Amino acid sequence: MQLFWHRRDLRLHDNVGLAAAAEAADAGEVLPVFVFDDAVLTHGSDRRVAFLLDALAGLRAAYRERGGDLLVHRGDPSGVLPDVAFDYDVDAVHWNADYSGLAQDRDEVVADALSMADVEVHRHHDAVIHEPGAIRTNAGDPYQVYTYFWKKWRDREKPDPLDPPASGPLADVAGDDLPALADLGFEVPDIDLPEAGHDAAAARLDDFCAADIYRYVEAREYPAMDATARISQDLSFGTLGPREAYARTTEAMAGVENEDEGEDEDEDEDERESVEEFRRQLAWREFYAQVLYFNPAVVTENYDDYENPIAWRNDGAEIAAWKAGETGYPIVDAGMRQLDEEGYVHNRVRMIVASFLTKDLFCDWRVGYRHFRERLVDHDTANDTGGWQWAASTGTDAQPYFRIFNPASQAEQYDPDAAYVREYVPALDDVPVGKIHDWPDLDADERDDLAPDYPDPIVDHGERREAAIDAFEAARSEE
Ligand SMILES: Cc1cc2nc3c(=O)[nH]c(=O)nc-3n(C[C@H](O)[C@H](O)[C@H](O)COP(=O)(O)OP(=O)(O)OC[C@H]3O[C@@H](n4cnc5c(N)ncnc54)[C@H](O)[C@@H]3O)c2cc1C
Repeated sequence: MQLFWHRRDLRLHDNVGLAAAAEAADAGEVLPVFVFDDAVLTHGSDRRVAFLLDALAGLRAAYRERGGDLLVHRGDPSGVLPDVAFDYDVDAVHWNADYSGLAQDRDEVVADALSMADVEVHRHHDAVIHEPGAIRTNAGDPYQVYTYFWKKWRDREKPDPLDPPASGPLADVAGDDLPALADLGFEVPDIDLPEAGHDAAAARLDDFCAADIYRYVEAREYPAMDATARISQDLSFGTLGPREAYARTTEAMAGVENEDEGEDEDEDEDERESVEEFRRQLAWREFYAQVLYFNPAVVTENYDDYENPIAWRNDGAEIAAWKAGETGYPIVDAGMRQLDEEGYVHNRVRMIVASFLTKDLFCDWRVGYRHFRERLVDHDTANDTGGWQWAASTGTDAQPYFRIFNPASQAEQYDPDAAYVREYVPALDDVPVGKIHDWPDLDADERDDLAPDYPDPIVDHGERREAAIDAFEAARSEE
């Protein structure tokens, strides 16, 4: 019997470890298992654990359609898996690598426990197309700068997505009921979640590849256009495989090339650039996965440290206003309210709210990271720490500390008609666009006339920008 341990790969399609287990198995000999591990659940949130349960329900249904089932256990995997292996006479356990430090430590303990029980362990790379360490500098080091990583990633041959296992190899077992959220210590989430499971993820990708992928290079920057793929929760929980996502870009590229001859060559070029830009984002995800793998401390420590500690301000009232979307900076508040209402924020706006917290409010990026981890459905340790450390100027390839986003000019450029702001901040519905962009600089009486229910700015961007630069320079100074 070959046991496959599902973790962040809740799908049958394009699953490297599962395909390997099926390949190694005789008929009726693949046993899929999921383990609720309390050490992992302590980092969970109502939103993400609810999404996880939905994804597991989809996974179990997919196994049942094929005549198999999913075994579900709760406990420490280093105890649970050897027990299951004993009960089902398992020869080998397969799993796909997870690249955080916690996961790597846990996997070592589980592998030791299985070896002691005389069970073989097979680890596979699945969560990214090119595993950490596969792409290195010419000197053999992991990349710290994305641009060079991207060039090698782009040029490397990509494997095709793998088919799901047929029903033949699946063990004929009766699976277990999934626990309720409350049994796991979580509450029903306060938002509607995106539909979970491989079919829903593939449908989102299909939708995106039908049209938006061809205008992505421009449209991705405008939050009101909603022109991105919305697959981050699927890649994060592994309800979608990265090879499957990449294969769709190959089809999309061929779609440009196969269009009628005589079509505008410039238009074709823009479309090709758009598909390439989307691939670039898939590669960012793989870049941050290898940063986390080689530097597990990036979850709690600055990647790029300064000479002296950074004297973060960490003002409680300012942090509370940021979390509540009550800063008086409309684009920041719209982003924080989108986070609250949907468990998602557009990438451009993530950068704006993260810059505002770490630069204007001069608050430690870890405060923002923990809040995102609690509220985002798509939270992913590697991408979230990567995004926060980039914004805070402490990460690999980070924003230089003296280049600080101006929220008003970001809004003017990327939300020119304030459609995004108005969607999430209804108090500004009747305020003219120009006044929304200028809100922090308006006279207090004018603000009160225009939208009495919307707050005044809690800080002055110009002053805080100078203060942040001074504080970073003090942290850099060698005196
Ligand atoms: C402060 C901050 C925190 C972030 N936290 C997360 C997080 O917890 N989880 C997460 O998946 N992404 C995170 N991102 C990256 C990015 O914002 C989201 O991946 C993206 O908005 C998801 O929407 P989408 O699927 O429509 O993306 P698309 O634009 O359609 O991109 C496709 C996929 O590429 C990957 N991707 C896109 N942009 C990035 C990026 N900048 N870095 C790494 N991968 C990327 C994602 O997997 C995404 O689903 C964060 C960015 C910032 C600035």
